[in-house]
Amino acid sequence: MLLFSIFGNPVTHSISPRLHNSVLNALDIDGCYVRKAIIEPETLLPTFHAMGLTGANVTVPHKEAAYEQCDEVRGLAKEIGAVNTLVKEGSRVIGYNTDAEGFYEAIKSFGLIQNALILGAGGTAKAIAIILKEHGIETTILNRSASRLAFFEAKGFTCNTGETFTCKRYDLIINTTSAGLKDEEYPCDEGLLKALFQEAKFAFDVIYNKPTPFLKLAQNFQLTCKDGKEMLLFQGVLAFNLFFSKHYDVKTIESLMRPAFEL
Ligand code: NDP
Repeated sequence: MLLFSIFGNPVTHSISPRLHNSVLNALDIDGCYVRKAIIEPETLLPTFHAMGLTGANVTVPHKEAAYEQCDEVRGLAKEIGAVNTLVKEGSRVIGYNTDAEGFYEAIKSFGLIQNALILGAGGTAKAIAIILKEHGIETTILNRSASRLAFFEAKGFTCNTGETFTCKRYDLIINTTSAGLKDEEYPCDEGLLKALFQEAKFAFDVIYNKPTPFLKLAQNFQLTCKDGKEMLLFQGVLAFNLFFSKHYDVKTIESLMRPAFEL
C-alpha cells in the first residue's frame, strides 16, 4: 500500500486527506493519505522516511523547512524558497511548490490581468508574486511592516508599506494576509481599500473558509471575486499529479477531487 501524509502544525483541520483519499479510491489505487502533526521542523524529512511515505504535502509553518531539507527542489519552488509537496523518487525526496500554480489556475477564469497588488508579504505572497511575475503580470507588494519586504525587493518587485504607498489602478487586488481569518479586520486601511476597489476589476482572498470583510467590500464594488477554495483544490490536484509522476490527466484528478472538496 502506498502511504501519503499532510505535515504541519496544526493539521487536524486539514481537508487534504479527504481530497486525496477520494481520488485514490476513485482510481482504485491501493493507497492511503493520513495526517501527521510535526512539532519540530527538523523532524520533517526523518518522519517522511520513517513513515515510508511515497509523497506528502507540507503546510504552515513548515514550508521553508521542507525547502531546506529535501534532496532536490524543482520548478518554481526554487525561486519561492518554500516547498508544499514532497515526492519520493528512488531513495531521494524531491520538493515542489504547487501553491503558486494552484493560485494561477484559480485566477485563469478572470481573464486579462495586466497588473496586480498583493496585500501581505508572507509565504503565500511569495508564491503568488513569483507565479504572477512568471506570467508577465506587473506586481506590487503592500505590507503593513517593512521587515518581510527584502525577499520581494531582491526579486525586483515594487514594495511598499502603508506609509510609502500611493494608490493607483490595479486590475487585481489579492489579500494574502491573515486579516479576516479569525477576526473582522481589513488587510489595510479601509479608505485605501475602497479607493483600490473603485478602480480594480478583480479581487482574490487566499482565505477559504469564510466570507472575509475584504471580499464583502469588494463585492460592494461589483468586482469579480474569488476566495481561496479553488487555489486549495488546484494545489491538491497538482500535488496528486506529482505523486504519480504525471501519470493521470489533471482534468481527471480535478473532476474526482472536486466533489470531495465540496462536501
Ligand atoms: P504568513 O504568516 O507567512 O504571513 C502573514 C502576512 O499577513 C504577513 O505579511 C503579515 O504582515 C500579514 N498580516 C497578518 N495579520 C495582519 C493584519 N491584521 N493586518 C495586516 N496584515 C496582516 O502567512 P501565510 O502566507 O503562510 O498565510 C496567509 C494566509 O494564506 C492564511 O490565512 C492561510 O490560511 C492562507 N493560505 C491559503 C492557501 C490556499 O490554498 N487558499 C494556501 C496557503 C495559505 P507582517 O509582516 O506585518 O506581520
